[in-house]
Amino acid sequence: MTSHIAIVGAGIVGLSHAVAALDAGYRVTVIEQDSRAVLASIRNFGHVCTSVQAGEVGELAREANPLWRSLAERTGIEARVSGTLAVARSAAEEAVLVELAEQKDAAEGELLTAGQVADQLRLATPGEIRSGILLAGDLTANPRTVVADLARWIADHERGEVRFGTTLFGVREGQHLTLETSRGKIAADRVIIAAGHLVGRLFPDLAGDVRECVLQMARVRAPHDMGLGPAVLSGTSMLRYGAFAGPAQDALREETERLRPELLEIGANVMFTQQPDGTLLVGDSHDYFDAAPPFLDERWSDLLLADAAALLGTDMLEVIERWQGIYASSSERELLREEPIPGVSVVTVTTGIGMTIGPALGARTIASF
Ligand SMILES: Cc1cc2nc3c(=O)[nH]c(=O)nc-3n(C[C@H](O)[C@H](O)[C@H](O)COP(=O)(O)OP(=O)(O)OC[C@H]3O[C@@H](n4cnc5c(N)ncnc54)[C@H](O)[C@@H]3O)c2cc1C
Repeated sequence: MTSHIAIVGAGIVGLSHAVAALDAGYRVTVIEQDSRAVLASIRNFGHVCTSVQAGEVGELAREANPLWRSLAERTGIEARVSGTLAVARSAAEEAVLVELAEQKDAAEGELLTAGQVADQLRLATPGEIRSGILLAGDLTANPRTVVADLARWIADHERGEVRFGTTLFGVREGQHLTLETSRGKIAADRVIIAAGHLVGRLFPDLAGDVRECVLQMARVRAPHDMGLGPAVLSGTSMLRYGAFAGPAQDALREETERLRPELLEIGANVMFTQQPDGTLLVGDSHDYFDAAPPFLDERWSDLLLADAAALLGTDMLEVIERWQGIYASSSERELLREEPIPGVSVVTVTTGIGMTIGPALGARTIASF
């Protein structure tokens, strides 16, 4: 009988697997190479963007949404049902939102007038805003605290253990599986590898098509009291997420190519989430490498921040911090789920939605044992 599961990686994917395994009655050991998780799961927007996903990841996102709510309730992590507000500032953007609204029932997605969008954002006037859609069921988590708090909850569980500062070198087969780590061997019945974009360091053949997607992010002071409202998406977001796909999206892409080619050049998805301390997490750009250079391009930041500022009816946003995020990316698939050694499951999200679907991936993997 499988009783002890070892999990490599204390990001949202590894910890989601750990919670699901504890819920199913297993003993769980999580190992994490750093003294705390500092990669993709703390560098993101914390946006659980269920409503804008489609296809297999759409199904996973829908499964994950109630799991996020239950995690927040059970573990006290900072995650709230915030909704997502997608804002249209041109006729082409508005057409994409109308198409999306046709697929949703009123409780899921409600079209808003310019004035209603302004109210959501607590703007005195709508400015260039034409309309919006409020997708009420999505969540916003605080990425700065969520994985640290979840790791603590797992460590406090009677069958849970988290070992930070412990790097996996490899897994050996035998009577048990043996994890060879920087702090000695660990025996386990099952192993889950949730190493994020570093998966290729452990399984280079498996991760041959996985590249590093690099994103530029900033934390800014909210330009006015915004009252902790929804996560906000803009026109460039409508070009990225599956649920916006359709003829209106094609027309918007053509319009953006014509009028704002610089935003396409930097792979912009201008969006932000609102955090409890009154700051906004604003991003992001997308660029792809085998090994990401660490340098942030100021022009790219300027483009992202100027577009976010315009949406908020202001000239400039006060930047508090900037950083680079990296996630695993593949042009061939959205998920990497393989079993390279019997009993060893490798789970990597190869598109930028691991926060949204992590809990569902954990639940599905554990249910498959
Ligand atoms: C800027 C940015 C914004 C994003 N915004 C969103 C968003 O709003 N919503 C959304 O759904 N998704 C978003 N994403 C994507 C999301 O953050 C990722 O998909 C998700 O965090 C991946 O989680 P993970 O646990 O697989 O990886 P990680 O968080 O990178 O965790 C992997 C962990 O494994 C550890 N590890 C690796 N190798 C070893 C080893 N050999 N031994 C021990 N430990 C090891 C690493 O140290 C790391 O802590 C964003 C990503 C970025 C970068």
